[in-house]
Amino acid sequence: MTVRHGREFLSIPGPTTVPDEVLAAMHRPAVDIYGAPLTAVTAGCLADLKKLFRTRGQTYIYITNGHGAWEASLSNLFSRGDRVLVLESGLFAAAWGRSAEALGIKVDTLPGDWRRAVDPAALEARLRQDKAGEIKAVLTVQVDTASGVVNDVPAIRKAMTAAGHGALLAVDAIASLGTMPFEMDEWGVDVALTGSQKGLMMPPGLSFMAANDKAKAVHQRAGLRTPYWDWTAREGPEHYQKYAGTPPVHMLFGLRQSLDMLFEEGLERAFERHRLLAEAARRAVTVWGEGGALELNIHAPAERSNSVTTVVMNGGRDPKPLLDYCSGKCGVVVGIGIGALNGKAFRIAHMGHVNAPMLLGTLAVIETGLVAVGIPHGKGGVQAAIDWLGKSVPA
Ligand SMILES: *Cc1c(COP(=O)(O)O)cnc(C)c1O
Repeated sequence: MTVRHGREFLSIPGPTTVPDEVLAAMHRPAVDIYGAPLTAVTAGCLADLKKLFRTRGQTYIYITNGHGAWEASLSNLFSRGDRVLVLESGLFAAAWGRSAEALGIKVDTLPGDWRRAVDPAALEARLRQDKAGEIKAVLTVQVDTASGVVNDVPAIRKAMTAAGHGALLAVDAIASLGTMPFEMDEWGVDVALTGSQKGLMMPPGLSFMAANDKAKAVHQRAGLRTPYWDWTAREGPEHYQKYAGTPPVHMLFGLRQSLDMLFEEGLERAFERHRLLAEAARRAVTVWGEGGALELNIHAPAERSNSVTTVVMNGGRDPKPLLDYCSGKCGVVVGIGIGALNGKAFRIAHMGHVNAPMLLGTLAVIETGLVAVGIPHGKGGVQAAIDWLGKSVPA
């Protein structure tokens, strides 16, 4: 017997739920790629991406996923033999670093912990050792989607400034843009990138990048530039140059719609919605954790992201039976643990097109699964989430 027939809830941290309005916007005949209407969509999206990244810098749209965006950033900035410093805080910054290594870039790593944010003091100390200024850039994520941590990007920049170091700061905001504040110019971020399929409520397949003047000056000397990724080529006057070929026509219509929805809600309100729903999830997990079998991966409250909550299982328990129950019996797909947390954790996404019933429904199904699978847990996790929302979202 199952109770899964009905709308399936996708509660994985990317790709996330695509709004019906976005799907509908994409469902249309192909258009002339040389025509004014599509050219205007491109111009509008590039301009609106600046509002999203909060920058006066240049924006770019790539037909690629996040891994491609990493490669685009590296290709545009570096030469073989250049050195970068990767700030480890889970899976994704390290993976960006591996991409750099494969391109012939020397990669130093500031070792981190899967349960903590990047330590700005450790970064400052590391940069002070680089007396020759060999490190060309610092690579970090804002949110690590595996560990569920949020890094303090302004504090990272302040540590770089305090060390008197001139490296560029490049930030992967794939799991955070559109879900929490990001201030590219104000925070001193030189290059930022994100993907379509997380907070931006789009299918996977597009990535977005922003670069300031400092980054573009470094770009001029980069030896790893290639025709496809190249910023300078993409700034050419012809529409096809923005994409180094045929534009991703239908994805652009979807992007236009998702940006419209985000700006209609208002960025600040979208951030607050994410904060409220994330805290509801954390309250539920905290109560369940009273049973001793599971806990929030990130202990410091200020370091917990508002886009994904990573829950670790204690005592070597595999979360698979629980996740199988949630999807197979109840129709809610909860995220698996990845990287070092594979087989040891699960992840609740509250990223993008998510509202109270989706999040409360997901939490209620997980709690149902804890009962069904027989995992000891504190009772009333969903009630704690309800109490939080009922108090925090006034009538
Ligand atoms: C999802 C994600 C990526 C990878 O994106 P892909 O589209 O899967 O290549 C990179 N960084 C972060 C922080 C992510 O959340």
